[in-house]
Amino acid sequence: MTDLGTHGEAGLERGRVDLQRYGHALMGTYGEPMRVLTRGEGSWVWDADGNRYLDLLGGIAVNALGHGHPAWVAAIAQQAATLAHTSNFFATEPQIRLAERLLELAQAPHGSRVFFCNSGTEANEAAFKMARKTGKRTVIALEGGFHGRSMGALSMTHKEALRAPFAPLLEHMVFVPRDDVDALKAAVAENAADLAAIILEPIQGESGVRPLSHAFLAMARELTLRHEALLVMDEVQTGVARTGAWFAHQLAGIQPDVMTLAKGLGGGFPIGAVIAFGEKAGGLLVKGDHGTTFGGNALAAAAANATLDVIQEQDLLAHAKTVGEHLRTSLEALDGVVEVRGEGLMLGIGLAAPVSAAVAKAAVDAGFIVNPPSPDTIRLVPALTLTTAEADLFIAWMAEHATRLISEGSA
Ligand SMILES: *Cc1c(COP(=O)(O)O)cnc(C)c1O
Repeated sequence: MTDLGTHGEAGLERGRVDLQRYGHALMGTYGEPMRVLTRGEGSWVWDADGNRYLDLLGGIAVNALGHGHPAWVAAIAQQAATLAHTSNFFATEPQIRLAERLLELAQAPHGSRVFFCNSGTEANEAAFKMARKTGKRTVIALEGGFHGRSMGALSMTHKEALRAPFAPLLEHMVFVPRDDVDALKAAVAENAADLAAIILEPIQGESGVRPLSHAFLAMARELTLRHEALLVMDEVQTGVARTGAWFAHQLAGIQPDVMTLAKGLGGGFPIGAVIAFGEKAGGLLVKGDHGTTFGGNALAAAAANATLDVIQEQDLLAHAKTVGEHLRTSLEALDGVVEVRGEGLMLGIGLAAPVSAAVAKAAVDAGFIVNPPSPDTIRLVPALTLTTAEADLFIAWMAEHATRLISEGSA
């Protein structure tokens, strides 16, 4: 194994002082940060004390090209120096080009349209407003689903701990168990006359990397077509090459009416998008219905265009598939690992005991950034440029150390 530097308690003095300032100045919405990070390069980041970490979380599926990719940096610098922001009273070429490219990559039919925003929750707010514009009200969402923290997106998010402090949320929401075809059919039958939309993530991210079966996705498609409701695919985490396809719904061979994007789209620059497929969905939001000051400004669009350029030029779809399969087969073979879920470079390592928090903490102390979305799951959503050699460093650490933590946890 290569030397990852020291990550012990003695090396943390400077980071500790910064974290004290953090605690006094920032709202406590995220709990205590693991480290203070100062720079990154590719799949590596450094903390305030000079320790190096292999970043297998990628800013939660955001840093698609890793940190500081030269083409991405150059595109942002160039656009910033040329024209960064204009307001939506004006159009810019980077924004038009990005919209055209997304429609093409999504194989969207004639009449499809794009709306740009700045985040995942905003993209889902726009999708929710599209659902309301159908003239019907009921939205079906899934247990375990996550769609964001603003009030519309939160209303479509199932987790009670996130919802309860902010009740009352929007009404006419119906939740069904994930991947339960019969429950979905029953919920649709019960709400047939008022069904505006079904929203789902093709692979649930925040609840622990849980893919929906292609049969369930096909049934959601069939039912929404039959009842003239929108099928909204929340691809905020799964979209933009993360799963080895441009968009995860393409793996299931279906096309939604609405797709929401954010995380990986700008490669670390904030941007979100809503794709409306076809004339009907494309025409739901009309002049005056929706807007945002920053959405799709030239700087954000240039960052996203650069991200798509690199993904295309380096065929990161194929690369994500290859490195993802390598991680999957290697990790699946370890004692204490029950299964590895997901596609491409969106992987959930299912542990034999509910020790994911302890494993994630031991990992960061050893120089690996991973994340425990559920008690028995470690999530990997690294840069799409992660190399097999880098993946092997983590596999070796898991083989040496995590197996022991898991067996201690189940004892
Ligand atoms: C992260 C996420 C969101 C929310 O995105 P923000 O940019 O944090 O608002 C919505 N949906 C899914 C599937 C996500 O993973």
